[in-house]
Amino acid sequence: MLLYVHIPFCKRKCRYCSFVSYEKSESQAERYIENVLKEAKNRKNEFIEPIDTLFIGGGTPSLLSPGLLLYFTDSLFRILEADKPTEFSIESNPGTVTEEWMSAAVKAGMNRLSLGMQALQPKLLNTLGRIHTFADVKTAIRTARRYGVSNINIDLIFGIPGQTHDQWTETLEASLSLHPEHISAYGLIPEEGTPLYEDLQSGTLILPDPDLERKMYDSALSILRMHGYSQYEISNFAVDGKECRHNIGYWKQVPYVGLGVAAASMTIIQQGDHGMICRRKKNPDQLREYEEMVFGQRDPAEDLVVNPAETRFETMMLGLRMNEGVDEELFRKMHGITIENVYGKKLHRLEMQGLLTHSGHYWKLTRRGFDIQNSILVELMDD
Ligand code: SF4
Repeated sequence: MLLYVHIPFCKRKCRYCSFVSYEKSESQAERYIENVLKEAKNRKNEFIEPIDTLFIGGGTPSLLSPGLLLYFTDSLFRILEADKPTEFSIESNPGTVTEEWMSAAVKAGMNRLSLGMQALQPKLLNTLGRIHTFADVKTAIRTARRYGVSNINIDLIFGIPGQTHDQWTETLEASLSLHPEHISAYGLIPEEGTPLYEDLQSGTLILPDPDLERKMYDSALSILRMHGYSQYEISNFAVDGKECRHNIGYWKQVPYVGLGVAAASMTIIQQGDHGMICRRKKNPDQLREYEEMVFGQRDPAEDLVVNPAETRFETMMLGLRMNEGVDEELFRKMHGITIENVYGKKLHRLEMQGLLTHSGHYWKLTRRGFDIQNSILVELMDD
């Protein structure tokens, strides 16, 4: 199973950010960590399988002091009586990574570092409201390598207001010069309520047009492929064997427990002959409400049972994100029915239209299918 821990603190809120994160004081962070450990104790019985991957995300986990990070991970493994997971990722903001923090993270068991570089050019970093420079990314990677971290991800964003195609390819080249094992390239999605969204609404900023954004994505596919990175999901690329196990777990509906503010969890109630039924929970977004939940004074923000038709659709939605596609055999094992029985007619029609391919026991999107995946999913929605 997968374990996610959310650390909802950032030095300063980025202008495009809609994640749950707050500017923190040290005492707030200590109190929060105690609450997460209490939540882990409360939910220990949900850890029915060994923890394969741990992902500490945020927010900015690299803002936790080295001492607090070590205290947290040691206590967490002790409470859960868990061994160090196979893959243990920590997200970090390059502007906050120090030598001491890296040393503590490696001591804690981190074997995969995820760095938010986003862009090369200071002007674009400024548009996004990032607090770091490319020099900080280089320093963070050098430090990580010195401490023996052999699996590093760099997050990049394309489609930033004012970004040219050349600036995007320069960003890709700059990140490749750092030899990360993994690169994530996300198209910017302006979220309502963020300062960036307001600037777009008022016309102060303008997004690149959709053709340019598509060209940027295509360039990412070809440049990364040329440098030995295989695409394994819409936005994710890795050298051989360095695909993110944790995220693949989400896309394959492996059960997960999320601890902390706004964290989501999924357990499987049943699967097989009578269909797959899941339970999905989400913790409150606010620190105070989260604390009240941990102390039994409030329920999770969301707690629902997902029925077989919905879990089948999720298998399609998540599986089609991945380059390998949806595995028919796995589908049958999980849902107790063949994919042909449920989606056969629609899949064959989409195949005829050149939007899906069927090879071996996998259904996957074609390049053209990738571009209109939302409408494909809408078509599959009513099985
Ligand atoms: S560092 Fe990440 S979580 Fe924090 S404000 Fe920026 S985008 Fe949001």
